[in-house]
Order: sequence, then structure tokens, then C-alpha cells
Amino acid sequence: MSDQSQSTSAPSVLRPRSQELFARAQQSIPGGVNSPVRAFRGVGGDPVFFVSGQGAELRDVDGNRYVDYVGSWGPMILGHAEPTVLAAIAEAAAQGLSFGAPTEREVQFAELLLRCVPSMDKVRLVSSGTEATMSALRLARGATGRAKIVKMDGAYHGHADSLLVAAGSGAATLGLPGTAGVTEGAARDTLTVPWNDAAAIEAVFRNHRSPSGESEIAAVIIEPVCGNMGCVPPQPGYLALLRKLTADHGTVLIFDEVMTGFRLALGGAQARYGVRPDLTCLGKIVGGGLPAAAYGGRADLMNQIAPLGPVYQAGTLSGNPLAVAAGMAMITQLQAPGLYERLEQTSTYLATELLLLCQRAGIPAVCNQVGSMFTLFFTDRPVHNYSDAKRADSARFARFFHGMLSCGVYLPPSQFEAAFVSMAHQSSDIEKTLAAARQVLPTL
Ligand SMILES: *Cc1c(COP(=O)(O)O)cnc(C)c1O
Repeated sequence: MSDQSQSTSAPSVLRPRSQELFARAQQSIPGGVNSPVRAFRGVGGDPVFFVSGQGAELRDVDGNRYVDYVGSWGPMILGHAEPTVLAAIAEAAAQGLSFGAPTEREVQFAELLLRCVPSMDKVRLVSSGTEATMSALRLARGATGRAKIVKMDGAYHGHADSLLVAAGSGAATLGLPGTAGVTEGAARDTLTVPWNDAAAIEAVFRNHRSPSGESEIAAVIIEPVCGNMGCVPPQPGYLALLRKLTADHGTVLIFDEVMTGFRLALGGAQARYGVRPDLTCLGKIVGGGLPAAAYGGRADLMNQIAPLGPVYQAGTLSGNPLAVAAGMAMITQLQAPGLYERLEQTSTYLATELLLLCQRAGIPAVCNQVGSMFTLFFTDRPVHNYSDAKRADSARFARFFHGMLSCGVYLPPSQFEAAFVSMAHQSSDIEKTLAAARQVLPTL
């Protein structure tokens, strides 16, 4: 990865305490971080250590303030320390942290999720997006009796073994084609195709049939709007094609809406594009900022899960009372009329203006945006899939990132991640961001 960024600005001098902590962290934590992308390998330099967040603003250990477009990688759609969510957590905490037994809150929460995402007849709560996708795949395999799964190049579905093949997000940032520790056996049944490529997915279905003619493909799992290769929306008709092919072959269509769920609409990308998957994975926003995730879908599939059926899946902290309370408070607020329209307006304005500023600075750029997620790619060609995304100029992105950081704007520290706008972003935050870009872009 390029470290050129370090020579273009000297933000590190403004963050002595972060630098000190990062050096110390590396003695006790691998790479100094508990999730790889946090280490800034994609942009060079040292990560920022934060102490607090309030609305759209983050404060670091050196007292610097930033307009935040990471939002904890998605959950903070209402901004940081949102009072209603905090109150719900405090109220739940006073009643005990965890029982490992059913609660009324879980039932109410499940009912709320089913109302928001009508393709789900039943839903099971887990603790991370990784668990949700891993469990959904196991269920698809258990229900179909088939082994193979199809995923998209550059899509990220958490770190379960079979899903790390050609994975996006941190794996893409680090340029890891696969991962040590994943057996050939675990990887063998994962087929990958380029996103938005109709011919490729048709060929995969043609080429993977058993001698009896039945499809060998248990599931196709997708991010319905990719966010982990940067933001890359589906081409018109592509989701419908996936729906038709999977239905024709008795294959389970899994929408991994861990990022897009409650982000693009209350009903996620499936509501926005009008395509109904068989199973849906939720995470990030669903836990309101605490560790909760979920998978749900067709009743005949969900009834295969233990204790009803033979597909085992469990969790000590699943349905944790605090996480459920936080998720419920957040999703309840997301039902406010006009909220998603407002988010989209703010985001469209920001994305459009950023692109204009690039043009004015003579910098080739593409800004992919859907609702309140967007990625500014430094490339002169449209980005429709992972290989297009990889053509973007990561070194220029790194310089952009550090320039913006010096001006008090915290973007995702990688070209292969989506930025998020929250309800807490006011026009003053957007204008501050654009002023920073106006200053930084001409220096790139
Ligand atoms: C973040 C993410 C995951 C993994 O969720 P974790 O909670 O980090 O395990 C899975 N799928 C998608 C689409 C994601 O964005």
C-alpha cells in the first residue's frame, strides 16, 4: 500500500497522543487494532484514537474535532450519542444485562423487524453481521442439500471462512486475494463472479449441475448495493435477473443487507429496488450501535432452524437486552416520515458538489451514491464492479483522505469503503466538508 500520503501533509504532528497510543497498542494488540481497516494501511499514517462522538462530530484524544462520515461503518445513522437510544440502553441496563433466556423485548423487536422487511416471515437474532451471513448460508445449504455458493468479486460478507474468497472491505484494502487459515475445502464450494455481469452469473448456473441435471448451487449471496468495494449500485435489471435465475434453479437468494438495511430505506435495498430475496441478513444499524444482527426470511426456510429443524445455530448473547433496546429505539425513530428523503437530499447535494469540485480541479473522478452511502473514486471510468474499482487511483485517494483529515473531515480510510451521511449532519457540516475539499483537491 502507498505511503505517499505521509509526505503531502503533516497531520501527525497534530495528533501526538494518537501516535503514542498507536505505538503502545501495537505491543498488546495485533497491528494495534481490533479490526484491520482501522489501522490506516489503505491510506498510510497512524490511525486516530477517539474519545467521544456527539451528533455528526467526533473528538479525538488530542482534542481535535472531525465531521464524521464513517459512522462506525454504518450504524450511526442518527449520529453519535443520540439521546433516545442512550435512554433506551440505560433503561434496559437497569433491569439486568443478559439472561440467556427469552424476553418480551425480543418478541417486540422481531415483530418490528418483520414489519419493516416484509420478505421476512421469521427472524433470528445474532450478535454480528458475520454470524448472520454464516448462519444464512448454513441454512441455505441445509435446506437445499447442496454445497456450492456464489458470491461477487469484491463483496464482503463478514469473515466466515467460505466468504473470505475474493472478499472486499479490509481484505480488499490490504490486497489479500484469499486468507491464510482457510482450508481448500472451505474455499472450494465458493464460486465467484463479477458484480453486474449478467453473462457470468448465467454461465455459473449453466456450468454447475449434478449428473441428474439439478443445480449444485445452494445460494447466491449478494450485497444488493455493494458497499465494501466502495459504493457500487446494481445495474438496472441485474437484481431481477438474479431473482429469476435463483428461482428457476431452486437456489436460495440471500440479500446481505448488513450495510444497506435501514440505511437505504426502512425496508433496505430490497424495498428500494422492489426485489424480494428468500433470506435477508441485517446488522450494523439493527443493533443501534451495540452488537446485534439478524437473519430472516421465508417461513419454510426459517422453520429448518433448531429447535424447530435440523440446522443448528445458537448464541449466548443473542437477543441481548441492551442491543435489542438500542436497535428498537433507533428503528422506531427511523420511521419518522420524510427521514430517508432528507438523508438522500443531503447526500445527493454532497456527492454532486464533491464531483463538481473534482472537475474544477481537473481531477478525474466518479462519485457513486445511493441514498446516504457514497464513494468518491479517483478514476475516469464508471465503476460497475470490483475490477473497475481497483482501477481507481488509491495513492491519490490516500492524499485526499489525509488532506481532508487535516481539515477536520473523517472519511473512511480506504478507497474501497463507502462513506455514510447521518441525520445529524447539518448544512454547516456539509459546507465545512465542501470547503475542505475545495482546499484539498487542487493540491492532489
Ligand atoms: C459489515 C458487514 C458484514 C460483517 O458484519 P460484522 O458485524 O462486522 O461481522 C457483513 N456484510 C456486509 C455487507 C457488511 O457491510
